[in-house]
Amino acid sequence: MDFISPSTIKRIAARYNFKFQKGLGQNFLSSQEILEEIADAARIRGGNALEIGPGFGVLTNELAKRAKKVVALEIDERLIPILDDTLSEYDNVKIINRDIMKTDISDIIEKEFGGERISIAANLPYYITTPVITTVLESKLPIDNFVVMVQKEVAMRLNAREGTKDYGAISVLCRYYTEPEIIRTVPAGLFVPAPKVDSAVIRMRFRDEPEVSVKDETVFFKTVRAAFSQRRKTLLNCLASSFPKSKDELSDIMQGIGIDARRRGETLSVDEFARLADALI
Ligand code: SAM
Repeated sequence: MDFISPSTIKRIAARYNFKFQKGLGQNFLSSQEILEEIADAARIRGGNALEIGPGFGVLTNELAKRAKKVVALEIDERLIPILDDTLSEYDNVKIINRDIMKTDISDIIEKEFGGERISIAANLPYYITTPVITTVLESKLPIDNFVVMVQKEVAMRLNAREGTKDYGAISVLCRYYTEPEIIRTVPAGLFVPAPKVDSAVIRMRFRDEPEVSVKDETVFFKTVRAAFSQRRKTLLNCLASSFPKSKDELSDIMQGIGIDARRRGETLSVDEFARLADALI
């Protein structure tokens, strides 16, 4: 494949008379440098790579250079013959015409990668960003690195620390299972066609063990969701509407572990959430 620039993307679109479909989040990245950076950030080193939404195959091309095998899931069947062409030089790439939202990733790992560990890379279509990221984070599958290009504000939320305006339940989920790192921001003008907002690339490196140990993950995530359910309310009021305990009981529990019941959910660290959830059991 040629060196990627906006004119390469426009030339491929013209050659195949391809019309970009906004509803499928089809904003294709047109910077060779950033494509290489995303592929490097996935740290594939001769291992397995799964890509979500290959488009014209510009990222697939970089993954194929670094991987033993790449499997790319693309929902738009118009792209399949184009991908067969643009990636014809590789025999380690398999394109599957499939909707990621209807795909069991564990099945792909078993059938396509023989159960081996994988890394996932994607320039995610914006309309499925949150469900895809949540599913992968919670999957408990043999995944090493999960590198995605998302809207900048989503990347900021994933990477956020307690006490900041971006911190929310998804930040806790992300940090519980992974070490997140913003690789770079990407201006909207580097996509064809250009979306309305800037993007960022974030790497989530899965931890061998979650960042904190909790007695019961279901209670932990229920506590986190409850704490962020009503941003303007105190932790005590948020918990009182989600757990079948009186406010007095909840206050005592929080006092017992040194967490002020008047605090707001967004001020609690992942470790404090773990202590709180364990105490609520
Ligand atoms: N990887 C290419 C790049 O970086 O230029 C294309 C990225 S584009 C933002 C998103 C791609 O995901 C498009 O090719 C789109 O057709 C595909 N896509 C959209 N929804 C999908 C879904 N549910 N499952 C799989 N692919 C999807």
